[in-house]
Amino acid sequence: MSLLKDPYGRTIDYVRISVTDRCDFRCFYCMSENMTFLPKSDLLSLEELERVCLNFIKLGVKKIRLTGGEPLVRKGIMKLLENLSINLKTGTLEELTLTTNGSQLAKYAKDLSSCGIKRINVSLDTLDAKKFQDITRWGKLEQVLYGIDTALDAGIKVKINTVALKGINDDEFATLINWCGTKDMDITFIETMPLGEIDKDRVDNYLPLSMIRKQLREEFNLVETDYTTGGPARYMKIEGTKQRIGFITPLTHNFCESCNRVRLTCTGILYMCLGQEDSIDLRKPLRESESDGPLTEAIYQGIARKPKGHDFIIDRRSTNHSIKRHMSTTGG
Ligand code: SAM
Ligand code: SF4
Repeated sequence: MSLLKDPYGRTIDYVRISVTDRCDFRCFYCMSENMTFLPKSDLLSLEELERVCLNFIKLGVKKIRLTGGEPLVRKGIMKLLENLSINLKTGTLEELTLTTNGSQLAKYAKDLSSCGIKRINVSLDTLDAKKFQDITRWGKLEQVLYGIDTALDAGIKVKINTVALKGINDDEFATLINWCGTKDMDITFIETMPLGEIDKDRVDNYLPLSMIRKQLREEFNLVETDYTTGGPARYMKIEGTKQRIGFITPLTHNFCESCNRVRLTCTGILYMCLGQEDSIDLRKPLRESESDGPLTEAIYQGIARKPKGHDFIIDRRSTNHSIKRHMSTTGG
C-alpha cells in the first residue's frame, strides 16, 4: 500500500522519470532543431536515479516508467534497469517500463525482456518514411519498425503512442490502427500539449481528439471501455477485437481527479503535475545527505503540494507555450 497520499485523497503509486533530456530525434512538436541540452553535471547520476527510485519504492510506489528525452540513449541505462528489476523479482515493484522512440530497440529489446520489462510504449506518428523524417527530423522509420518487431519477438507487449497532428498525419489514423491490429498492439492518440518552446506555432497542428473519434467512428465500430491506467487516457475498443484505442485529451477533457502519478526530471526536480509549474528539488537532499531521511521528507512535502489539476491552454489568445519546460525535460 502506498504511503503517498495527496491532499485530495489520491494515492500516488506511479512515478515517471526522465533519465536524460537528450535525444537522437528532434520531433518538431517536442524540440527545436538546435536544442541546448543541460550540462551533464546537472543530471542525476545513475546511482542517484537508482537511489530516488528505491526511496519511492520504499514509500509504496508500484510502477516506474523511464522516459526522457530518449531513455535508451542514456549511457549505462541497462545497468539501472537491471538493478531496479531486482524489485520486480521481490514483488516490491509491480511494473518497470519505458517510453521510447524505438530507435535503439533492436539493440536492447532482448536485455529489456531479461530485466522483466513486459510492456513498453513506442512513439510513432506515421508509417510514411518521408513524413517520419519530416516529423522527427533525424529519425529513420525503418529502424523504428525493425526495433518494434524485435521487441515483439522478445515477448514485450508494445503500445503505440501517436501524436495527432493536423495536416500531417490526420489521414493515417485508420491505417495506423489497422497496422497495430496486425501486430496485436494497442494504440493511443495524443493531443499536442503546449510544453516548451519550439520552432513552430503549435496552433497550426493542434487537432482535438474529439474530431478524430468522430472520424474513426465512421470507419470502425468503436465501443466504450472502462479500462484505465489512472492516467489521462480514455480507451475504446473495436467491437469484436481485443484492440484498445486510447485518447489522451489533456486540453479537452479533465482527467485529473484520478491522477496517480508524479514526474521526476533528469535533474531531480519533482513535478507533481505535468501542467503546473510547482515543483520540489530532490537533488539537493540526495546530494547533501547520505541518509535517506531528507530525501523522503522532500518527497512527502512534494506530494502534500500536488495540485488538484492542470490548466493547459492552447489557443490563439494564449502564448505559444503555456509551460516553459519541454516534454523531454519532464518526461512524457
Ligand atoms: N523519446 C521518447 C519517445 O518519444 O517516446 C520518450 C520521451 S517523449 C517526450 C514522450 C512522449 O511525449 C512521446 O510519445 C511524444 O510523442 C510525446 N510528446 C512530446 N512532446 C509533446 C507535446 N508537446 N505534446 C504532446 N505530446 C508530446
Ligand atoms: Fe525525442 Fe521523444 Fe521528443 Fe521525439 S518526442 S524529440 S523522440 S524526446
